[in-house]
Amino acid sequence: MPGFLGSPGDAVTSGLRAPADGLAPFLGCVAKGLAALLEAMADFLAGLLDLLFHLDSVQLRCRDPQSNQQKENAIHGLMIQAWEGAGLWNEAVFRMGAWFSAGLGILIVPSVQGACQGARRGRRFVSGRSNMCGIAGVFETEGAVGIVASILFAIQHRGQESCGAAARDGAGRVLAHKGMGLVKQVLDEEVQGRLSGRTAIGHVRYPTAGCSDVVNAQPHVIELAEGPLMAISSNGDLINYAEVRSRLEQEGVIFKSDNDAELIGRLIAMYHVRDGLSIEAAIARVQSELKGAFSTVLMYRDRLYAFRDPHGFRPFVMGHLSHEGEDEPPSEGTVFSSECCGFGITGARRLREVLPGEILRLEKGHPVLSVGHAPLRPRHCVFELIYFSRPDSTIFGEAVYQARQRIGACMAAQDEALANGEDLIVMPVPDSSNFIALGYAKAKRAEFTMGLLRNHYVGRTFIKPTQASRDEGVKQKFNPLPDFFPGKRVVLIDDSIVRGTSLRKLVRMLRSAGAKEIHVRIGSPKVIGPCYYGIDTPTREELIANRMSEAEIKDYLGADSLRWLEVSDFEGLLPGRRQDFCTACFDLDYIYPPESFAAKTNTPAARTVSAEACS
Ligand code: SF4
Repeated sequence: MPGFLGSPGDAVTSGLRAPADGLAPFLGCVAKGLAALLEAMADFLAGLLDLLFHLDSVQLRCRDPQSNQQKENAIHGLMIQAWEGAGLWNEAVFRMGAWFSAGLGILIVPSVQGACQGARRGRRFVSGRSNMCGIAGVFETEGAVGIVASILFAIQHRGQESCGAAARDGAGRVLAHKGMGLVKQVLDEEVQGRLSGRTAIGHVRYPTAGCSDVVNAQPHVIELAEGPLMAISSNGDLINYAEVRSRLEQEGVIFKSDNDAELIGRLIAMYHVRDGLSIEAAIARVQSELKGAFSTVLMYRDRLYAFRDPHGFRPFVMGHLSHEGEDEPPSEGTVFSSECCGFGITGARRLREVLPGEILRLEKGHPVLSVGHAPLRPRHCVFELIYFSRPDSTIFGEAVYQARQRIGACMAAQDEALANGEDLIVMPVPDSSNFIALGYAKAKRAEFTMGLLRNHYVGRTFIKPTQASRDEGVKQKFNPLPDFFPGKRVVLIDDSIVRGTSLRKLVRMLRSAGAKEIHVRIGSPKVIGPCYYGIDTPTREELIANRMSEAEIKDYLGADSLRWLEVSDFEGLLPGRRQDFCTACFDLDYIYPPESFAAKTNTPAARTVSAEACS
């Protein structure tokens, strides 16, 4: 039943359901506001004391680097707790102001709200939109957080900056832990023990716009009147984020982060509590109102929901830990992941994708139920097949490794002018280009070699925030085989060119290693537009394909020849399914034209401003 939201964590209705007049309501309002304030202050102080105590104890016993990492994680977790206490306090102040205003019948809400918003703008984390991320969920299974951590570990390639998990405990409350760093560091055994519960969700994040800050890590816990009963993780970008957020803020909602996931959660909470919609109806309404990409898991009370945007931009799959049949699986033991490569590590079997526009409800004692399905024209991200997803995943009905080999074969077929010979070697820029290069080499009947060795302890480079960090990343990341290249003609395969700076360094590296010729082949068409649906490619001006002609790019790279995949090649690569895929960053065929939202959402210009504001 929708009720008044008494918790400061959900300010959705703090200005909406306040009593209208009279002294008794006024005093009631003040008492509730003061109680919330005291409670939040107690949380904050408890967090700080816990932090100090923990600091002392871990300091004594931590000597080796691993322990130090654990210490760091522990401290980080406690800092979040303390920070969230501060956030609660902040919101409690706001709520008290709202109660006063409601009781007195005067309009001080906007000024209090304005002050809160001003304070929030002062924080470092001006923009923390979710981007290339991964999500996981497990329903009613022993050790749920451990399973979530395993799935997140398997999809770590989708985000390495921060991660987190939330679990429902025996009393029905949701507890969360988030931290900066990799899954193995943040969601360690101690955390898994602490987050006991049979249902859990999780998230790995890669911020490609805005600031790195743990406050933007997911999952987000949304507090309702009865306590923290809802948690949400989502992957993708909303193009009407700013518009919707502004609308919610005008209604009194206070945000703790700039994540799309928090916006989705608070919007659902508002429709559920204020408008009295069931959670399913609230999700369906949110699905229809939000524009963009969102693959989402939502824990609500004793249920788990999984839903996806109507176009199905980002991958999202369901599996089961034991179910064998073809019928709808029991809710218990059901797992979700951005990619099914996350299932192998847990022993789960891939069942199917969460369909575009679908809402799945998991409830104890019931099979998984599809309680809503409102799809629009599919717009699966073709870049997931080319670059982002792991080759051992099957997404959008395609085995990724096969799709990549087909791309390579397609390019080889168009490369007849490049003569075969014993001196011709085909090599990828590892790892995402491995299967494209393999497909090319097989079709070309040329030697395939891993001529560049990749250090796997360096993250992806093209989306690092500054050029300096990207340059450093390339040097740290790749090294050529020694004494291998002299006299060789190299076909160097990469999955894409964005700015071109990394590839230029690699070409130079191979030239220094003795390569006679270097022919660069790109397994995607020219990137000419930004992505607004979950992958933050640079601004249009920064994209090399918009700044230089083909000949100029070839010279800039220092290559002997250069070819891209063509957009028209997708017809043959995705037979009969071409129209189901988004290729907007290659052909500007945006399903939501950027002009229609440029003034109000995450345009490249807005991102630039946000990134600058972080420094
Ligand atoms: Fe994928 Fe490009 Fe479309 Fe973004 S614009 S969803 S990266 S194909």
